[in-house]
This record gives sequence, C-alpha cells and structure tokens, in this order.
Amino acid sequence: MEQIQIGWIGLGKMGIPMAGNLMKAGYPVSVYNRNQAKADTLLQEGAMWANSPAELIQKATVVFLMVSDDAAVKEVFSAQNGLLSNDLTGKVVVNMSTVSPQISREMAELCQQNGASYLDAPVSGSVKQAQEGSLVIMVGGREETTAQVRPLFDVLGKMALWLGPAGAGNAAKLAINSLLALYALGLAETVVFARNQGIQVADLLQLLNNGALSNVFTKIKGDAILQDNYEAAFALKHIVKDLGLAKNEGLQSPLAQTAFATFEAANNQLAEEDLIAIIKKLD
Ligand code: NAP
Repeated sequence: MEQIQIGWIGLGKMGIPMAGNLMKAGYPVSVYNRNQAKADTLLQEGAMWANSPAELIQKATVVFLMVSDDAAVKEVFSAQNGLLSNDLTGKVVVNMSTVSPQISREMAELCQQNGASYLDAPVSGSVKQAQEGSLVIMVGGREETTAQVRPLFDVLGKMALWLGPAGAGNAAKLAINSLLALYALGLAETVVFARNQGIQVADLLQLLNNGALSNVFTKIKGDAILQDNYEAAFALKHIVKDLGLAKNEGLQSPLAQTAFATFEAANNQLAEEDLIAIIKKLD
C-alpha cells in the first residue's frame, strides 16, 4: 500500500490536516484546490501540485475529495478540466465531503461507467479530530473498495464503518449532523436561559462538563462561548446546508424544522462563523 499515489482535492479547514496526515504517514500526495494559496503549507511540506482535477487524477490512484457541497462535487467531476475529462480506469475516488446521498449515487454511476470506483465517506468530528487522525468515517459504496482503502482510512480516522451502497455514508452523516444541529442549538439556548437566571456561564459549563451530559462537543463549544471566540471550526453555513439536505431526504420533525429555520435565519450574518455562534441570535 506504501506505493499508492494519493490525490487530494479540497484544502479547506478539514482537507489541509487530513491530507497532511496522509503525508506524515509516508504516502506521496498530490493536491489541487480551487484557490491555490491554501496549498502553500502542504507544498512546503512536500506535497505535489496539480493544476486541475484532471491533472491530479492522472498522477494518483486514489483521489480524495473534501469540498463544501453538491455544487463543488459536480464542478470537480464535470467542469472542463474535471475528473471525468481524464481516463479514470482503475482509479478510486473517495468523497469525504458532507453532501447529498443523491449526488453520491450519481457520481458512483459515472465512475463505474468510466472504469473507476467511488466511495462516499463523510466524517464525524471537526478540525481537532482531523488533525489528530481520529475522525469517525461512514462509508457507502462497494465493500471490496472500502477494504482496499481501509489503510488510508486508518490514517485519517479512528474508525471507518461500511454501511451499504453508494449514498449510505451520506445518509448516516445527515442523520448525525441533524443531531449536531439540535445539540448546538440546545446548548446555546441552555446557556442563554441560565445566564438570564443570573448563573455565571463558567459555572454552568463546569456543572455540565462534570455531569451526565458532559461530552467533547459541550467542552469545546462551551470554551468557545466563554472566550467569545466564534472562529469557525464548523462553519454555520455548513449546518444550514446539512439541515437542508436532511430536509430533502424527508427530515420534517418539529425540532429539525425549528433548527433549520433558526440557523437559516442566522446565515446571512453568521455564515462564516462557527455554528455555536447561533447563541448570538438568542440573546
Ligand atoms: P471549508 O473550509 O469551507 O473548505 C471548503 C473546500 O471546498 C475548499 O477547499 C474550497 O475551495 C472547496 N470548494 C468549495 N466550492 C468549490 C467549487 N465550486 N469547486 C471546487 N472546490 C470548491 O470547509 P471544511 O470545513 O473543510 O468542510 C469540508 C466538508 O467537510 C464540507 O462538506 C463540510 O460540511 C464537511 N465537514 C466539515 C467539518 C468541520 O468541522 N469543518 C466536520 C465534518 C465535515 P476554495 O479554497 O477554493 O474555496
């Protein structure tokens, strides 16, 4: 597996540390990003640059995508110098972006028609887990392809679970991110309620972090609230996208509808801030 040539498309907050971990594990990595400047650090560390997705897939056997949304995935595949404009025979494309199950089914079909394999492999965890290589990876596609890619998943995450055919990973991810949205909104509402009752936020968080509701998310987002630091680890615009995708898949429950409406209303102002910045809309 050491000789595998890796291609990485999408050097955002998640893509940079994930591609960096594959490099640290000794794999040769070529990168492409729409905005080339974001590749600087990885290029200094030894990554190779490709001018387009088409050029990248020529150099690589396994190509990862970590881009924003369905539109970005479409562009990476189908633009003039997109993946599909080159010979894909024998290649494996692993799409780790959080996107719709539908686009994964479409891209899997296109890959198959062109002699390539496709996995959807979105992740649970944020920038910290991406840096640590401790993401939770949920995989849709062929089980044999998943086994082939597993050594690479083992570098990126602490577990990779195969769930079913193309789109199954995306479906699981939308379910999990719906809970993420409900939880973030619930935490924000709880802090605001306690604060309005005269409780110090630091005290409330200390109680939460030591009680039955303690978890990594509460710790990290609680610290962000305390420090008034809403720099995005997970941008609010992404949760609006994910709740929209989940809605398209049939999620219409009362809590989900409220969360979608609340985050969507905040999106104009807070799109680039962390999702826990929703607390600023609740004061
Ligand atoms: P990000 O920092 O906003 O980066 C987005 C990446 O997508 C950038 O490389 C961007 O390129 C690229 N992109 C956007 N539109 C494109 C297009 N039309 N064509 C080509 N490339 C395009 O996002 P992120 O936080 O890394 O998240 C990436 C994915 O992982 C998203 O689907 C997100 O929902 C998911 N995710 C994020 C987290 C998190 O905590 N951040 C956790 C789990 C999953 P440019 O640099 O050129 O704009």
